[in-house]
Amino acid sequence: SYAVGIDIGGTKIAIGLVDQSGQVLAKNTLPTDHSVPPSEMVDRIAAAVKQLATAAGIKEADILGIGIGAPGPLNTKLGQITEPPNMRGWWGFPVVDSFKRHFELPISFQNDATAAALAEKWIGAAKEADNFVYITISTGIGAGIYSHGKLITGATGNAGDVGHLVVDPTVGTCVCGQQGCWEYVASGTAIARQASELLGRTVTSKEVFDLALNDREPEMERLVNQVFRNIGIGCVTLINTLDPELLVIGGGVSQIGNPLFNAVRDYVAHHALNPSGRNTPVIPAALQQEAGLIGAAALVHLNY
Ligand code: ADP
Ligand code: ZN
Repeated sequence: SYAVGIDIGGTKIAIGLVDQSGQVLAKNTLPTDHSVPPSEMVDRIAAAVKQLATAAGIKEADILGIGIGAPGPLNTKLGQITEPPNMRGWWGFPVVDSFKRHFELPISFQNDATAAALAEKWIGAAKEADNFVYITISTGIGAGIYSHGKLITGATGNAGDVGHLVVDPTVGTCVCGQQGCWEYVASGTAIARQASELLGRTVTSKEVFDLALNDREPEMERLVNQVFRNIGIGCVTLINTLDPELLVIGGGVSQIGNPLFNAVRDYVAHHALNPSGRNTPVIPAALQQEAGLIGAAALVHLNY
């Protein structure tokens, strides 16, 4: 039996057919076209799903359900996308009802980081863990919380929006209006913004890592070390709050690998409050690009 996974993002939408072992049998992506209303994007997504199923020789009767992951803030009780900053045209859009117009299948809906956490539990880096936090460090920072053997979604599906934990209120104002949120001081966007200010030219976070870690440019080394420390601070807060067995880190910025992981492990080892917290393993996500898609399908296969 199969599930359809749909991962809605501000730049692209990934769709796929995923079997009960987590194998992606077929997938496709569509650009998120902000010049058309979301209802038309849903028409396109539904058509692409039907096409994918037909091409793979899978009938609608063989599909268990449709899982949808989308950026927060959202409201899973209402089945709506509420206020994602880079999808203004989708604010208040009833995603679940719109898909119901195209399919007579059960639909599961969660925020994208929560879905990715479930994928890591299902077939990824957290298979053995009953208590872990998945953190994605990318354009922003988000998390999915898995505790006592269950996905923690909160009342409206917004649990884990840890990008807006305040880490350093001396730094500046986040999109949310608070000073010094975690994603304002430690996301890929934050790295690029701070480096561009220091250098007086526009650089990407990848270039910043190259300047710091390969060229050993002192100002960029200081910045990257501060960012790693800021990532560590947020991780310690999550460890102290939730007492997880494991932290799994994914997202574009985590691709930098060992320099980041070693710095975060060192910070955790020195600053988490209790002895077991200080030993919390901090490991890379196993599913990079496909985590959102597989997670959306996992919502169906694992009955969320
Ligand atoms: P999204 O936020 O759309 O999910 P990504 O997870 O790729 O996308 O995250 C994008 C951010 O990660 C950007 O700030 C980008 O510069 C940064 N990034 C992507 N790949 C790498 C890499 N290999 N090394 C360092 N930073 C990266
Ligand atoms: Zn914020």
